Amino acid sequence: MTKVAVVTGGSRGIGAAISIALRDAGYQVAANYGGNDEAAAAFTQATGIATYKFDVGDYEACAAAMAQIEADLGPISVLVNNAGITKDGFFHKMSPEQWRSVINVDLDSLFNCTRPVINGMRERGYGRIINISSINGQKGQVGQVNYSSAKAGVIGFTKALAQEGAAKGITVNCVAPGYIATEMVSAMNPEALAKVKAGIPCGRLGESEEIARAVVFLVEDPGFINGSTLTINGAQYIAG
Ligand code: NDP
Repeated sequence: MTKVAVVTGGSRGIGAAISIALRDAGYQVAANYGGNDEAAAAFTQATGIATYKFDVGDYEACAAAMAQIEADLGPISVLVNNAGITKDGFFHKMSPEQWRSVINVDLDSLFNCTRPVINGMRERGYGRIINISSINGQKGQVGQVNYSSAKAGVIGFTKALAQEGAAKGITVNCVAPGYIATEMVSAMNPEALAKVKAGIPCGRLGESEEIARAVVFLVEDPGFINGSTLTINGAQYIAG
């Protein structure tokens, strides 16, 4: 039976590349998105991949959506927790909303999306969970105390859940991208982006497809890679 993979934020940017790479590797993919109906419709039209609209920050919505995906496509074997946002600003000027919304979408989402599928994976003795962190969760970043906190939390979540699921055939791994050429990065101010590029030893931004290849690699691993964080950043930051 074709395995079902859910990719949150799977309709644009890195997530879209992951959805396509998993489809090409033979998975039945459900790509989640948050609000951009137009981009999701264009993605489905171009790829044939089904899209599901729900807010990864809302537990009830995630539980209902995962049940719907299982009813439509079958048991979920692969979950890629990719959806994420930034709301940058210096900490001394950061509002509670900036803090809460980034923690909610970038970290609470891992609980919200994984909790409804983990028991099925445990019962079936198989699961692959890949969480997308960030270079800025590894090293910290000025103007991103909220985002760096959430993305560091993603790594802790990965390490702990990997230990819980290993005996049940579930692996939980993390990919920590550096700066990738997506809309999230294009939205940076040009001066800041030029500085970032100058700090990447390989001299360029990464491509979404380079992250997607790594995700497929981790999904297809037989099970001994577990709890790891794969750093993909052009040697910008070498995590210990
Ligand atoms: P994009 O902004 O290009 O795409 C984000 C995706 O997430 C969209 O599909 C969006 O849906 C979805 N999304 C956002 N909020 C929600 C929500 N509340 N509920 C459901 N879906 C939501 O992001 P990127 O591709 O750049 O980033 C993907 C991941 O990679 C993020 O976790 C990001 O933090 C991480 N990352 C990105 C880096 C980069 O350089 N780009 C570097 C390191 C990490 P919609 O289309 O409806 O808005």
